[in-house]
Amino acid sequence: MSDFTLGILGSGQLGRMIVQAAADYGISCHVFAPDANNSPAGEICNKLTEAEYSDQNALNHFYNVVDAVTCEFENVPISALEMAPESVLKSPGIKALATAQERLIEKETAKLLGIPTSPYWKIGSISDLSDALDALDGSAILKTAKLGYDGKGQIRTKSGDSPEQLWHGINTDFAILESFVNFKKEISFLIARNTKGQTIIFPPTLNHHKNGILIHSTSPAILPQSVIDAGCDYVESMANHLEVVGLLAMELFLTEENTLVFNEIAPRPHNSYHWTIEGCKTSQFHQLVRSVSGLPFGEVETSKKWHMKNIFGQSVSELQSGYSNAKSYVHDYGKEDPKIDRKMGHITWVE
Ligand code: AMP
Repeated sequence: MSDFTLGILGSGQLGRMIVQAAADYGISCHVFAPDANNSPAGEICNKLTEAEYSDQNALNHFYNVVDAVTCEFENVPISALEMAPESVLKSPGIKALATAQERLIEKETAKLLGIPTSPYWKIGSISDLSDALDALDGSAILKTAKLGYDGKGQIRTKSGDSPEQLWHGINTDFAILESFVNFKKEISFLIARNTKGQTIIFPPTLNHHKNGILIHSTSPAILPQSVIDAGCDYVESMANHLEVVGLLAMELFLTEENTLVFNEIAPRPHNSYHWTIEGCKTSQFHQLVRSVSGLPFGEVETSKKWHMKNIFGQSVSELQSGYSNAKSYVHDYGKEDPKIDRKMGHITWVE
């Protein structure tokens, strides 16, 4: 049993899988979230604090008893992480969290690092939107700059659409308009980085989305070596630039010309890498725990082809039927309320 305690801000399924991985190394986890009780992570962690992220008193108590803190979702208020004293290791780090929380900063960082982006415009008013739609060639997606996830806070649009209607539809004061990329594939890359700046990159994953939500992932993605090399370079330069400690996922589009175009980053475990729990000697969750607790990285190669399917509230019975296939691995997040599009679990299998 290690005397290391990992603090987790957030209590969803990613937190749950971090707790499970930490337990393999004898590391205990303390979950902090406003809804920690009976949550996927809260119900299996060693300790929990149910409090608002703005509750300074509760945060002080939490930071007194943890050695490191990680965020299981990127929209954790930055102030909650900033409250951590010097003695507590912060993962993924303030810079990484701040960048991932705002689409404009995210895109500008990608551009700065030479990672191709589709043309985009900063939108703060109807007139910004009107100008951008005039400049736009083809279709686009209007996205809220903050707090978007799983395709939420997005409207598909094209030149000629009414800026007034779109602006009222998106209902925010800060958005970006992003040219639509006619991609042939969606790919993600995932890197783990530790406090010494050492890195390890997982095999690339091919993703299938429906209405902006990840449905199914396959890995390793079969891609030209030049594409794999470019993706690895992009995710590594971003992780180094943001001084990430922990994990950084990068979602990219692959065009017909085999060019990768940046979509977004997530400085945390990524849904498209859940297959690594069974598929790699060291899963993404294990690698995260290792990177924050000073343990060396483990191997991530795989010799098989892995599939992962998300199970949503509307198809929750598939979790039960998953057990009848002895070759599949069923993960039930322990959620009680099977709402539409709510991720209830996932199933992994080998091709
Ligand atoms: P996001 O939340 O930005 O990752 O968007 C969710 C999904 O919407 C992506 O995985 C894509 O399938 C689609 N999407 C987002 N932005 C674009 C874009 N600029 N061009 C084409 N499809 C996009």
